[in-house]
Amino acid sequence: MILKEIFYAVKCDRCGAINNETDTAFWGEKSQAVLQCQDDEWLCNVPGKHYCPNCFTTNEENEEVTIKPPFPESVKRIEKFIDVITKNLAEVHEKDDRFEIDFYERISLHQADRNWIVENYPTAKIKEEILRDRKKITITIKK
Ligand SMILES: [Zn+2]
Repeated sequence: MILKEIFYAVKCDRCGAINNETDTAFWGEKSQAVLQCQDDEWLCNVPGKHYCPNCFTTNEENEEVTIKPPFPESVKRIEKFIDVITKNLAEVHEKDDRFEIDFYERISLHQADRNWIVENYPTAKIKEEILRDRKKITITIKK
């Protein structure tokens, strides 16, 4: 018998990180996924939005929350390309001088996919490494 189930996870609206602080990222109920994020100090009180701890700052004195500025268009477009076209789940990590878009390759990144990235964003560097039998791909964009 084939059983089809729907599971819920919370993805950061700024960087694309999926909350997997605990062993479980996907939950049977939406509310469970959101509750776990609140426990993991995500920002969940913006209507329809969720932000991981890396994507907002909290003023220590007045506890005012500031969401960091959105990523550059180039970073957003590459992330979307990876998610939608290659069907891999990318995350964006912001460093001092660069953005790193990375994912574990679930579905092979074809040469045409690589060509699209490099032709549209000539400064992008694509790096591959094997971590625990899985291929991790990191695309670096300088700021
Ligand atoms: Zn984030």
